Amino acid sequence: MKGMLSVIIPAMNEEGNIPALVSAVRSAVEPLEVPYELIIIDDGSRDGTWNALKEASKDCPELKGIRFARNFGKEAAMSAGLKAATGECAVIMDADLQHPPETIGEMYSMWREGGYAVVEAKKRSRGKEGLVYKTFTKIFYGMLRRMSGLDLANASDFKLIDRRVIDVLNASNEYRPFFRGTVEWMGYPTGRVEFDVRERNAGRSAFTPVKLVKYALSSVSAFTAVPLQFATFFGGASLFASAVLWIIALVRAFVAPYVGAALILSAVMLLCTGLILISLGIVGYYLSRVFDEQKGRPRYLIGEKFDGGNGNA
Ligand code: UDP
Ligand code: MG
Repeated sequence: MKGMLSVIIPAMNEEGNIPALVSAVRSAVEPLEVPYELIIIDDGSRDGTWNALKEASKDCPELKGIRFARNFGKEAAMSAGLKAATGECAVIMDADLQHPPETIGEMYSMWREGGYAVVEAKKRSRGKEGLVYKTFTKIFYGMLRRMSGLDLANASDFKLIDRRVIDVLNASNEYRPFFRGTVEWMGYPTGRVEFDVRERNAGRSAFTPVKLVKYALSSVSAFTAVPLQFATFFGGASLFASAVLWIIALVRAFVAPYVGAALILSAVMLLCTGLILISLGIVGYYLSRVFDEQKGRPRYLIGEKFDGGNGNA
């Protein structure tokens, strides 16, 4: 349907938020006067989230519920929502009202008028976050930026994406996708709005420190094979050290009366270590090629094109 909007919300153990969420989203979207659907994915909740959804659907015909057999994680829930979405564009947001539904209207009109493929909601302030969490995310985003060239520091999963983007995401078959990263990677024209992160409405954050570390590792590995090249780096360093020792040994052989067994031994050992590590790096390089191939991402995405006719499409 023309201009149809899909709102996609992953939810795990959010029973206390569902009624407020559904009504907040409705009152944010209805003034836009466009057809919409609200897709909420129950990601293996252990509380009454599913029942709350069924209850809410009684007076909200636009609400569609998907329930996972068990907890598969937020990324999986977002993928399921995107597969189910029929809109011309989709807004992805959290269930805990930390992403203010009022922002949807602003994002939608920006999409309509600005012709953007992506409208990103950026955090104006990061809200209340613990020191550990802050430090951790800082290190994580810094690492990711250096290794993959993607700057995601103030990015969140709160985004509007249009059909082009949805179709690309649906077509790629990454087992462990990283939504934020993939959308950034596509490089489509992106509009930005800002929002203030709110306090969580009810319940508590599902992301324990352990889960965050896992999430970080999985998303770094979805985006860069750089860690596979650590072996090459250490191998190179080892070969360099060995070369230095060989030179010292040679010099000593000429000027000093003796070379020293320890020196020779160290030089030989460093040489062997270096060669082994470099070989590992080569294996890693091929592995990273396999890794890139299996993700099945498109090789390129076309922004625009024309075919004769003075540049008119
Ligand atoms: N979530 C999910 N599956 C999970 C963990 C979280 O669907 O395994 C959802 C959760 O219900 C919420 C969103 O992902 O809608 C963000 O989670 P949360 O608020 O716990 O994270 P935080 O805001 O603390 O980063
Ligand atoms: Mg939250």
